[in-house]
Amino acid sequence: MSIFDRFLPKKKQPEVKNTIPQEKTNIKKTFGVYCHKHHNTSGDKLCPKCTALLATVMTKINRCPYGITKPICDRCEIMCFGSKQNKEFMTIMSSSSKGMLLRHPMMSLKHKMASFSVDYAKREQEKRASEKAAAKKKNAEEKAKAKDESKKK
Ligand code: SF4
Ligand SMILES: [Zn+2]
Repeated sequence: MSIFDRFLPKKKQPEVKNTIPQEKTNIKKTFGVYCHKHHNTSGDKLCPKCTALLATVMTKINRCPYGITKPICDRCEIMCFGSKQNKEFMTIMSSSSKGMLLRHPMMSLKHKMASFSVDYAKREQEKRASEKAAAKKKNAEEKAKAKDESKKK
C-alpha cells in the first residue's frame, strides 16, 4: 500500500444482485402460460403434473449450489432437476416464450436479457480458455524448437 492510496477513492466490491425471486416469478408465470394452453387449466391453477414439476424446480432453486450467483436455470450447465424433469422444464420454458411475451412482456424481456448475459459470459469464458490453450501450445512449440536448435549446435 503506497501513501497515495489513502487519497485515492476506495474500490467498491462489485455488488451481486439477488435475482432469484424474479426468476422464480418468471418460471411460475411461464408454467401457468404452458399449463393453461396444453392442459386446459386456468387462473392460478396448474395440473398435477405441472404442479409437481414446479415444486421440484422451486425446491432445487432454494438449494442451488451457485447460491445468489446462479445463472438462470434454463441456461445452466448442471441442470439439477433430474433427466426427465430437465427435458420437461426446457420444453415448458422454450415453448412458452411467445406466450410470455404477449402476457408478461416486461418479465419476458428481463428474462431474455438475463439469457443473453449468460450466453455472453459463456462465450467470453470459452474465448479466454481457447486463447490460453493456444498460448500454451505456442509456448511448448517454441521450447521444443529452442531445444532442437541447442542440440544441433
Ligand atoms: S438448474 Fe442450475 S441454476 Fe437452476 S437450481 Fe439447478 S443448479 Fe441451480
Ligand atoms: Zn399442466
